[in-house]
Amino acid sequence: MTGLPWFDYRDGVLHAEGVNLHAIAEAVGTPAYVYSSDALTRQYRSLADAFAGIDCLIAYAMKANSNLSVLRHFGSLGAGADVVSGGELQLAMKAGIPPGKIIFAGVGKTRAEMMLGLKAGNTGIAQFNVESEAELQVLSEVASSLGVKAPVAIRINPDVDAKTHKKITTGKAENKFGISYRRASEVYALAAGLPGIEVVGVHVHIGSQLTDLAPYEDTFIRLAELVTALRAAGHNIRRVDLGGGLGIRYDDETAPDPQLYAAMVRKHILPLGIAVALEPGRFLVGNAGLLLTRVEYVKQAEEKTFLILDSGMNDLIRPAMYEAFHRIVPVKAPENGAELAPVDIVGPICETGDTFAEGRPMPPVVAGDLLAILSAGAYSSAMASTYNARPLAPEVLVHGDRFAIVRRRPSIDEMTALETMPGWFSEAQG
Ligand SMILES: *Cc1c(COP(=O)(O)O)cnc(C)c1O
Repeated sequence: MTGLPWFDYRDGVLHAEGVNLHAIAEAVGTPAYVYSSDALTRQYRSLADAFAGIDCLIAYAMKANSNLSVLRHFGSLGAGADVVSGGELQLAMKAGIPPGKIIFAGVGKTRAEMMLGLKAGNTGIAQFNVESEAELQVLSEVASSLGVKAPVAIRINPDVDAKTHKKITTGKAENKFGISYRRASEVYALAAGLPGIEVVGVHVHIGSQLTDLAPYEDTFIRLAELVTALRAAGHNIRRVDLGGGLGIRYDDETAPDPQLYAAMVRKHILPLGIAVALEPGRFLVGNAGLLLTRVEYVKQAEEKTFLILDSGMNDLIRPAMYEAFHRIVPVKAPENGAELAPVDIVGPICETGDTFAEGRPMPPVVAGDLLAILSAGAYSSAMASTYNARPLAPEVLVHGDRFAIVRRRPSIDEMTALETMPGWFSEAQG
């Protein structure tokens, strides 16, 4: 009924693999994120298998979900990590991802972050993806100060339209990301002349939640031409980093087939005789997670029925931020032939944007029922906040018939542990 083999109904109750979601709600309360290990493995393997025989680093874009156990799981499957901050770099290392499999991306790396990357595990990380000439200069200075060379791929903006939501399109000329492919040879020449830089590759990343592979093909064709031209100019380009962006099914989209994606790489990129890096985020985790939540109230307004949940936009901001669709299903399977009626499904937060779905056809639901908001493995817990002084929801990892609380819910004392009162509050009044 969910279309996801790892989240399915057994004896009329939604399970995560072998675990009844009622048992998880009882153990950790709601809201809570629930992740399936099996789903993580299957998604990773589907991509790794498609690239079998290719020298390929799958660097998990950990901004999608940076829970240490999720990282550790991917690390044990052989994944590297694509990090976008010094914090993520430290988390990746903490989870045991070897620095030699870490790629550092992002438009605004600070000197301190560069330093962390250059020093990681003594040998430094695999690659810095550089987004501007100014950043190249600074990275060269920082590396030179340590007496090393930073391995660099320059992010090229191929000016293709990924045809995805405007807030997650990154490969068009007007976006802030990368360097125009028309200026690439100039910028590579600059990089080659800098003492602290070793050019190793070319990077592209055109957007997120791509369900159509055509923009990738356009990108790969441009990229192959560019690599050929850069090599002719004397640059030793050893790796192309193809970025992330592979979409998943949230509603009725068809997720791209990794085999077809890999076939495009074989066709356009492999003739270059070059190593490949991939940076999938959402594809690996998006459908491996759900947000388990309870209906607090069913509110009958004049024109509408509202289901008011105990989870809100602070737990899952995608609907508010990207107008994203998430399927929402009851944990207890509806009766056969139950009639669907449209409801608005909202959170408790004082914002009109705190809405998960409007006019969504749902079977009858009463206060106290558990619901599962599906496809909440990516950009959900990772983007969560404590807005309205709501604690971050706990995270649970399921493995077969077992589950583990991999991040617990903080207490109010833990939530305020970093705050101190200024001394003058306790000085004598007068
Ligand atoms: C966000 C991002 C990714 C991952 O994107 P997904 O759509 O989650 O696969 C990969 N690379 C870079 C540079 C990114 O910014």
